[in-house]
Amino acid sequence: MRVILIGPPGSGKGTQAHLIETKLGIPHISSGDMLREAVTEGSALGKEAESYMSQGALVPDDLVIGIIMERISRGDACEGFLLDGFPRTLPQARALDNALQEASCVIDHALRIKVPDEEIIQRISGRRIDPVTNEIYHTLFSPPPPEIAERVIQRTDDNEDTLKKRLAKFHQDTGPILKFYAEKGLLKVVSGVGATKEVQQRIFEAIQISV
Ligand code: AMP
Repeated sequence: MRVILIGPPGSGKGTQAHLIETKLGIPHISSGDMLREAVTEGSALGKEAESYMSQGALVPDDLVIGIIMERISRGDACEGFLLDGFPRTLPQARALDNALQEASCVIDHALRIKVPDEEIIQRISGRRIDPVTNEIYHTLFSPPPPEIAERVIQRTDDNEDTLKKRLAKFHQDTGPILKFYAEKGLLKVVSGVGATKEVQQRIFEAIQISV
């Protein structure tokens, strides 16, 4: 199964992607994670991407399309994948469509997870990441255990100003993407508000898999 997850930062995409990945055994491919890895490695791509990411701006299409196309062509993605954070623009959606058509494959579902902006801001400003395991915590809702509390970090683009820019950009870019997949009859919209389990049930129902 090939699924695209569409939701703003902090909509719970990562958590839900992990649950679907575990259930279906398909790789969870996050463009944001791949770009952050490139930045950490200090590769040429990472250096170029970093200047956009730290501003809350989108990385240019040709860079992101290149890394995602390479990733979905690997063996572990041939039975399916879960794309998280990609496509974010129409040229990205078209590039994905063309690549899949060439491989005689299709997208099965484009899943939009909706969460009000005020809730996103509350969720993200408390978000902390363990740099060793990549586990995500929240200062209020799921605080890190005491033994790792000292080492958790806040992503540089998780501050409120950058976040507001990212949300505005998300809403601006998402309209055409939603229309693109709605016209293909692939768009499913679910609310991302509520407990992880509740959201999971809505998502599994929408993409027709059993919990
Ligand atoms: P995310 O973890 O999905 O919130 O992505 C973090 C940052 O990486 C974004 O603010 C963008 O700068 C960049 N990024 C991630 N995915 C894409 C994409 N599909 N197109 C362009 N930039 C992206």
